[in-house]
Amino acid sequence: MTSSRKIYNFQTVIDRLENISNDPNNIEISHTCKTAAGIYPLIKIVLGQGNTRRALISAGIHGDEPGGVETVVKFLQENRHSSYMDEWEITLLPCINPYGYEFGTRENHQGKDLNRLFKVENPPLEVVFAQSIMETGFELSIELHEDNESKGYYLYQKGVDKKHEGIGLKILNSLKEIMPVNLDEEIDGSKADKGVIGKELDLSAMEWWPMAFYSYSRGTQMCLTLEAASCFELNARVDAHLSALNTALNHFHKGS
Ligand SMILES: [Zn+2]
Repeated sequence: MTSSRKIYNFQTVIDRLENISNDPNNIEISHTCKTAAGIYPLIKIVLGQGNTRRALISAGIHGDEPGGVETVVKFLQENRHSSYMDEWEITLLPCINPYGYEFGTRENHQGKDLNRLFKVENPPLEVVFAQSIMETGFELSIELHEDNESKGYYLYQKGVDKKHEGIGLKILNSLKEIMPVNLDEEIDGSKADKGVIGKELDLSAMEWWPMAFYSYSRGTQMCLTLEAASCFELNARVDAHLSALNTALNHFHKGS
């Protein structure tokens, strides 16, 4: 899929990340994605390397959802990670689909929706990159998305331990002053309860997997897919996501 006009410049994201990082070694580029429009680095940032508790925060798998990418940059810029560095190793994937980010397309340069391709043989490079990071599961993984059909924030939650069941509602409560919660009983074809979609699924029976299911299959304890409503200004989407990140990390912090 080739779109002719760039909406955003991915180099700006790279420059901002490099300026923020006090240790450029934190920024790792193991994969580069070659496209007709140029070569894009797939960026991984690891903070608190070696800490025992591990969280993964990722964004930009759908290129036309810039709010998540901006959230990761702001998270670093505002030094929000610092209060977790005593016990957490946080891995950030600021933008899994940089081509889509630049051209404002959900899909990658091959016209593929990357978040449908985590169960196929020979997936696109961006998926290979994300899979390589999830080889051992995380205690917590958070994927930042946006929905252009929703009037409010909602989330998908899939966790192993029942004692953390309340995390989704807790997150939504923390951000409802910034963005209303989508209270529909059905959202995007799934049954929802007060903005939380937590359906029981038999992963092995599913034809396709999004990234969250792959993560779950590799042993991640709590997978959260967060959906901000695109009809709100970018600032509100970013603030809502930042609030969600803090609430989720605090929920698991210190002996939870
Ligand atoms: Zn999305």
